[in-house]
Amino acid sequence: MLRLPPIPVHRPSTVSEAVDLLVNHAGARPLAGGTDLLVALKLGHHHGASLVSLGGLGLRGMDTSDGALAVGAGTSLWELARAPLPPGLGALGEAARLVAAPPIQSRATVGGNLCLDTRCWFFNQSAFWRSGRPACFKAGGDRCHVVPRGDRCHAVHQADLAPVLLACGAEVRVEGPGGERWMDLEDLYSGDGRRPLTLSAGELVTEVRVPLPEGGAVAYEKLRMRAALDFAAAAAAVYLERRDGTCTRARVVLGGVGSRPLRVPEAEAALTGSALGEDALRAAAEAVRAATRPVKNTDLTPAYRRRMAGVLVRRAAQRAWARAAEEVTR
Ligand SMILES: Cc1cc2nc3c(=O)[nH]c(=O)nc-3n(C[C@H](O)[C@H](O)[C@H](O)COP(=O)(O)OP(=O)(O)OC[C@H]3O[C@@H](n4cnc5c(N)ncnc54)[C@H](O)[C@@H]3O)c2cc1C
Ligand code: SF4
Repeated sequence: MLRLPPIPVHRPSTVSEAVDLLVNHAGARPLAGGTDLLVALKLGHHHGASLVSLGGLGLRGMDTSDGALAVGAGTSLWELARAPLPPGLGALGEAARLVAAPPIQSRATVGGNLCLDTRCWFFNQSAFWRSGRPACFKAGGDRCHVVPRGDRCHAVHQADLAPVLLACGAEVRVEGPGGERWMDLEDLYSGDGRRPLTLSAGELVTEVRVPLPEGGAVAYEKLRMRAALDFAAAAAAVYLERRDGTCTRARVVLGGVGSRPLRVPEAEAALTGSALGEDALRAAAEAVRAATRPVKNTDLTPAYRRRMAGVLVRRAAQRAWARAAEEVTR
């Protein structure tokens, strides 16, 4: 059995206290629901860390009074999954329900999901298991066991909310030593499996804002080994806007096939201006397959995940299209 090592936990009551603690304690890490971070600590990652609990910062809650859906970073996935969501955004709740299983959803937070670390068969193992090989890039070493001649870490981004929120054009509020700023969610991700977020030391995600769709809707599809629990081996979120039977805007985002949620502009171009007929769907699926290069570091083979990425985009596009039609006639 893996045990949690003794580890100091700070319990600030304001965001600025939390930021100060993160800046002034080397190795301090934000602790939200802990459903991923505590597992990582048990596996021997982040040696010598201390934790800064975000639970007392009042970052919980949802609001639509300002022309957008605002979700506090401390809102649990359980709350998001059961909240009445604005028209067209129901897939946010569906994605929350697809994370792990209900006991985990009740602790896991929206901010923790967006800031989830990337994963890899060779890294998400105990320290003892990993000691059988030289350290890889993500563990501070100088090689990758998955892509041996590669020069970077290819660990996979598998958070379920990120593709959906990114497809909806969400922004995040970041608070840190330099004050507060807003950024496109897309810019939160670096694409480097070793250090997947662009946040600077001491910065926290405190809120997500999603524009309310106008004649649009989003849908999410996830492929995983066990429907009751597993991370995405591939996933697709598609947001579509529909006017007079024509798709006027499309955003296509993949999860589980690379080190960041991956937007596919070629697939978006294939859908935009179409009536979502067979030719457009086939072109979008082909564009997705061409843009995707998964490697062998999670469940299922890379070839299957790549093929399924196209299938998932097709399914998500069809569901988003039908939902957008409901929004138009509402
Ligand atoms: C068995 C199991 C199955 C799982 N299956 C899935 C799955 O199917 N899909 C999925 O997406 N996830 C899955 N997870 C991972 C995890 O449960 C979720 O991603 C969850 O949403 C993480 O949120 P948390 O609040 O628990 O984050 P934590 O574990 O507390 O934190 C995760 C990371 O984010 C950082 N962080 C947290 N909050 C912030 C913030 N506000 N600002 C900056 N950094 C922050 C932490 O420092 C840490 O690095 C699974 C976990 C387990 C144990
Ligand atoms: S992809 Fe390579 S460098 Fe990254 S965690 Fe896996 S083995 Fe390590």
